[in-house]
Amino acid sequence: MGKVLYVVIPCYNEQEVLPETAGRLYEKLKGLVQKGRIAAESRILFVNDGSKDATWPMICSLAASNPVYGGVNLSRNRGHQNALLAGLETAAAHADMIVSMDADLQDDINAIDAMIEACEAGNDVVYGVRSSREKDTFFKRSTAQSFYRIMRLLGADIVFDHADYRLLSRRAAQALLSFDEVNLFLRGIVPMVGFPSTTVAYERGERFAGKSKYPLGRMISFALEGITSLSVKPIRMITLGGMSVCIVSLIMLIKAFADYAAGNVEPGWTSLIISIWVLGGLQLFAVGIIGEYIGKTYMEAKGRPRYIIESVLLREDGEVE
Ligand code: UDP
Ligand code: MG
Repeated sequence: MGKVLYVVIPCYNEQEVLPETAGRLYEKLKGLVQKGRIAAESRILFVNDGSKDATWPMICSLAASNPVYGGVNLSRNRGHQNALLAGLETAAAHADMIVSMDADLQDDINAIDAMIEACEAGNDVVYGVRSSREKDTFFKRSTAQSFYRIMRLLGADIVFDHADYRLLSRRAAQALLSFDEVNLFLRGIVPMVGFPSTTVAYERGERFAGKSKYPLGRMISFALEGITSLSVKPIRMITLGGMSVCIVSLIMLIKAFADYAAGNVEPGWTSLIISIWVLGGLQLFAVGIIGEYIGKTYMEAKGRPRYIIESVLLREDGEVE
């Protein structure tokens, strides 16, 4: 008999896609159980991240209709990463393997077969990696790629073109849960867990229905979150930048004195105003980055819970059939 698989899906206002996602995943799990690849106690676990639409009632009726569906209801919207973690925590108590994926069917569920195979071959972490970004808009593609490049440059060990579609073994999930940071960027933390890992390529489709929950503003704040929660290099860069500016100003000072001595002093308004603006901007930027880290420290120091689970719907009896 195969191992117990839990598929964890964070959902925020996903009423348009939920029935389709639930149906397709059920067929997938049923097939896997029939082939003996996974245990019949496997489950599909939806995490409701404080949705304002009919998502939670839908999850409740799914759970009532078939034991394969389970639900975790968060007390309020806590964001994708926290919702995912809440689901992992609930699943880690029952599952041998946990696959996390988005609700919108952008992640090709047929890659689960290959993930299970890779897990059985001894990998604790299997990253789903997009084979191409053709279906993305030019804008999303280029911003995403520059994000991965910047992360790499800053020294964060993240897997290229991997979102949150991945398989974790139970021990990898438990190890992940022991990282108790509040500023959560799972893509950056999972590689830190270690254990044998591999990647599985899949074709990422378009959102099945509904709107993206990551408009530009949220994308930028997510990227900033990722950079500042993983790397202290920006602080060092500020120091280096400050030092270079000091050296340049020293040279300028010598030049200014030399010009003065030679008697050819310029009116100098242009250079003055430019330096005021440029330096003012640089200073603000630098202070902003430092503030970002101070803010992070502040949040970590509070040690607030990352999510609060309101209720869990999970039937441990009952089999996938
Ligand atoms: N999501 C969530 N909480 C949020 C925002 C998003 O749980 O506050 C979920 C959403 O329901 C989906 C996943 O995170 O399952 C990814 O969101 P989306 O597909 O909108 O992002 P995109 O694919 O456009 O980056
Ligand atoms: Mg999506």
